Amino acid sequence: MAIILDGTAAAKRILLRIGEEISSLQIRPKLAIVFVGDNSASEIYVRNKLTRARALGIDAQLVRLTAKSTIGDILGTIERLNADPSVSGIIVQAPLPDNSMQSTVFNAIAAEKDVDGFSDRSIAKLVRGASDGFISCTPLGICELLREFGIGISGKHIVVLGRSCIVGRPLSILLSQKSENFNGTVTLCHSGTKNLASLTAMADIIVIAIGKKFFLKKHMLRPGVVVVDVGINREFDPNAGKYRIFGDADFDGIRDMCYAISPVPGGVGPMTVAMLMHNTLAAAKLQHLQADTAAL
Ligand code: NDP
Repeated sequence: MAIILDGTAAAKRILLRIGEEISSLQIRPKLAIVFVGDNSASEIYVRNKLTRARALGIDAQLVRLTAKSTIGDILGTIERLNADPSVSGIIVQAPLPDNSMQSTVFNAIAAEKDVDGFSDRSIAKLVRGASDGFISCTPLGICELLREFGIGISGKHIVVLGRSCIVGRPLSILLSQKSENFNGTVTLCHSGTKNLASLTAMADIIVIAIGKKFFLKKHMLRPGVVVVDVGINREFDPNAGKYRIFGDADFDGIRDMCYAISPVPGGVGPMTVAMLMHNTLAAAKLQHLQADTAAL
């Protein structure tokens, strides 16, 4: 029977450790969340992040901007938060109403406050394997989820499906870093990949992040594989009168073939939020240290 990579339980353990560290320190981290527009799915994610942060003793500030905000309005808000010494970390909830603004907006966040790790500077640090950059929360959460369940990455062949700048691509870089925690061999697949099933069938670990409900099926796997499902596919269920969430993997159809598999919901999602808290604490510690050094 497959091990269920229970992200809710793993995140709970991680959050407990973060909460303990925060209460033992003489600092109060602060996370500012800039939310532009009124995307209904984002509303839920933002509320979840605020609740989690506050439960840990992190000050969480929501900065709302209307969908009509100009790039100048958004950059002005980020500039103000960059300059505010009480703010440890800043995120801008994606997607923005105007997607073309995204990289300008992410790059405006000060490097030491970029707790989502989406800026070009943070990505460059990830590529170089520098230890002082922020790694984006979903890739980091996936690696921590595997670690929490004792699944090693070193020497494994990991097939990543999806090459977006927030999940697949940074994950592929992280997994292949030369370090004892990673050191994996990665095949990065996308919509142009030919013979996808022959590649997934060679994987020790598959991470799927493509946004297509139940895409990963039994015939694409070899027995004993580990599957990490990042997908969040929302569908309205008229009988229940609410949205339901499905993963990119056909969980019920493949679980018997897997050594371990993450569920959706309750897999990668909670780990992503836990890693945001981890990065916010790391940012607060770094800024505290820098302020102490400057005072010497
Ligand atoms: P994007 O839409 O930005 O990227 C999707 C990727 O999947 C692209 O690289 C695309 O290829 C690839 N793809 C699409 N169709 C296929 C296919 N048939 N075969 C192989 N590759 C394919 O998505 P995101 O990375 O932003 O998100 C992916 C999923 O993960 C979504 O469901 C999202 O909601 C979820 N997500 C979950 C998070 C969590 O915390 N659990 C966090 C972030 C995202 P190409 O580049 O060629 O177009």
